[in-house]
Amino acid sequence: MSDAKPSDSRGKDFLRQRIDEDLKNGKYNKVITRFPPEPNGYLHIGHAKSICINFGIANDYPGGKCHLRMDDSDPAKETYEYVESIKKDVQWLGFDWGENLFFASDYFEKLYEYAVFLIKKGKAYVCSLSEEEIREFRGTVTQPGKPSPYRNRSVEENLDLFNGMRTGKFKDGEHVLRAKIDMASPNMKMRDPLLYRIRHVEHYRQGNKWCIYPLYDFTHGLSDYIEGITHSICTLEFENNRELYDWILDECEINEPRPHQYEFARLNVNYNVVSKRKLLDLVENKYVSGWDDPRMPTLSGMRRRGITPEAVRKFCDSVGIAKANSVVDMAQFEHYIRDDLNKKVPRVMAVLRPLKVIIENYPEKEKELINASYYPHDVPLEGSRNIPFSREIYIEQDDFMENPPEGYYRLYPGGEVRLRHAYIIKCIDVVKDQIGEIKELRCTYFPDTKSGEDTSGKKVKGTIHWVSAEHSENVKVCLYDRLFNMEFPETIEEGFNKDSLKIISNAYVEPEVSKFAPGSRFQFERLGYFYLDPIEYKDCKIVFNRIVTLRDSWARAAKPEYAPVRKSEKEAVQKSFEKQEFDISELPEDARMRFEMYTKKIGIHREEALTIARDENLSTLFETTTAVYDNPKVIAGFVSTEIARELKEKSFENLRITAQKLAELVKLLDENIINLKIAKEVLALMQEKSATPAEIVEKQGLKQINSPAELEPVVDFVINNNPEHLADYKSGKTKLFGFFVGKVMKETQGKANPEVLNRLLADKLK
Ligand code: ATP
Ligand code: MG
Repeated sequence: MSDAKPSDSRGKDFLRQRIDEDLKNGKYNKVITRFPPEPNGYLHIGHAKSICINFGIANDYPGGKCHLRMDDSDPAKETYEYVESIKKDVQWLGFDWGENLFFASDYFEKLYEYAVFLIKKGKAYVCSLSEEEIREFRGTVTQPGKPSPYRNRSVEENLDLFNGMRTGKFKDGEHVLRAKIDMASPNMKMRDPLLYRIRHVEHYRQGNKWCIYPLYDFTHGLSDYIEGITHSICTLEFENNRELYDWILDECEINEPRPHQYEFARLNVNYNVVSKRKLLDLVENKYVSGWDDPRMPTLSGMRRRGITPEAVRKFCDSVGIAKANSVVDMAQFEHYIRDDLNKKVPRVMAVLRPLKVIIENYPEKEKELINASYYPHDVPLEGSRNIPFSREIYIEQDDFMENPPEGYYRLYPGGEVRLRHAYIIKCIDVVKDQIGEIKELRCTYFPDTKSGEDTSGKKVKGTIHWVSAEHSENVKVCLYDRLFNMEFPETIEEGFNKDSLKIISNAYVEPEVSKFAPGSRFQFERLGYFYLDPIEYKDCKIVFNRIVTLRDSWARAAKPEYAPVRKSEKEAVQKSFEKQEFDISELPEDARMRFEMYTKKIGIHREEALTIARDENLSTLFETTTAVYDNPKVIAGFVSTEIARELKEKSFENLRITAQKLAELVKLLDENIINLKIAKEVLALMQEKSATPAEIVEKQGLKQINSPAELEPVVDFVINNNPEHLADYKSGKTKLFGFFVGKVMKETQGKANPEVLNRLLADKLK
């Protein structure tokens, strides 16, 4: 574990550790990274992660730089609109590329020269197979490929054809330029990959200057080299491309110091999609109003919604930099949005669904101004406003019940409640219209109960918000919610949350609020955080967007921050189980027998048993694994969730997880060598690598830390570095326990044994 590391690298992610080392060894004298979006869509939360990593690293090192490079070598869907949106979004997020805005398309001429160089060296050739033939010839993971019949064309012929490709002599697809590497390489990417193809398509910047376009692998490393990039950081799906990245630089005879590629795990967030293609689908099929619809996980959508760039950055930081793919809970993002706004924005009152209250003993036409602070006392900001109070006010419909259940502390006939910042009122009558709907409430107030000056000694249990009917501002409010109501939507139709936008055209806010500049943010007490929308504002009445609710309405009961996702996944399965109201008798005979055996004999959960029993492949894997290692419950957990999910994307034949390996993984878990969180990481890696779980754990340094002695210094480090949280915790905010757990987990990259950690922390925080 990290104890062996020098103290200055302590707690740093693997990229920064690597950079520390490279700088220390004198491999480079400064670090230059790049963020390389393709301008074919708007940036999303996943890109934010990449931006924070690349620009964050550049900011962390003296002389460090991060280039913004449009990776625009594929002409089909690239536009200036996207280029501009990308620039705006990176700036909004708070990063600055300075002079260093580049376009891969500016390197086309140089790239062409490198291609000619490779041809002359005999390292590239023009291939005239069709796309489909090329695919066939490539072989499979288990079978080597066959060489193309054009592989041995002479250098002269290749040069001539390649020149012909450039000058437009051929149609799309007639020829391609390929690297000459190894058709039997175990790495499919090395089987004579394509370098150039013919596309008679206009490029948004180059016009019709080119009709051949370089492919990603050829373009990327050379662009990195041309710009002097040191660390070329990309996502895991490019792991197999690294060998090719190095091959191209080697064969172009580019010597050290030169760029190297490193991979990290993509950010995935549940209840969301992070793929430009799927986001484009949402836009094109009018599920949303555009790329910047406030529900979209795009940076422009978040900006529109009122989410702050600080919150996005803190969230990205909190996720850490991992080497294995995983899903981050949307609730974690929402937590950072609230956390950022909580201590920054004024708290005011608004009523979204008004119910009129007439205070009969308050003089007509009188207006009283109540001065109230914008901030609660523990926020070091100052400012207050006057709230008009009068005989007619609005309260929230939800805050009144005609027949309240036991323990209802808000208003009901005969009941008393405090109006926030103002008086206690008592409901004396309910006025209804002809059809029996409540029209208004009649109340009385107690003049000696004014907040801060209460001399009555009266006690009420509830406090509700309100606005003065005559003096408040009528506004429109857009209540945004999650775009999907499924954690992992497979199709948009399936998961789209039809309630993700509710428009309330008749809400009221206290008058001072409308004097704030468009773009201001507020907490509407008891309702959530809201944003004075600067765009819609212009052409109709004032519009507020709900940024986020005050509490996590999606939360499952008191979930600790670091609980493995397991529980929610189970719930998802459980839901689908309920939704289909599955009748076991409808299962085919053999599946039903399996189901009975799994639930009755082995005692696994019904929903897990169903998932497995219904699928022959899963059943076989489950049964053979339990034959190798005896812990059916845990095995069923993996088979019915992670593996079942994996199989949605690939066929059983392509699954690299064998019974033997899965058994070994569960054994490691049972022996406390790893924890559940790590087990999932390992499982993901097992799908990518042929190594055994134990080898993966060893190689990636994923062993769980069980020894309190080893954990203790990390716990101390975290406690000492968060004095404010410590003070808050000691003053009674015991919920912060999860904060400390999270920090230690982050420091140990998820490797702390949760039980040991909980015990240790509880002890230290006493
Ligand atoms: P998409 O799948 O949405 O089309 P992409 O990878 O094709 O994304 P690019 O414009 O090529 O989009 O991405 C620019 C950079 O952002 C790349 O370095 C890519 O690895 C990174 N990136 C994209 N999506 C994510 C993500 N979900 N998490 C982290 N980094 C990401
Ligand atoms: Mg891409």
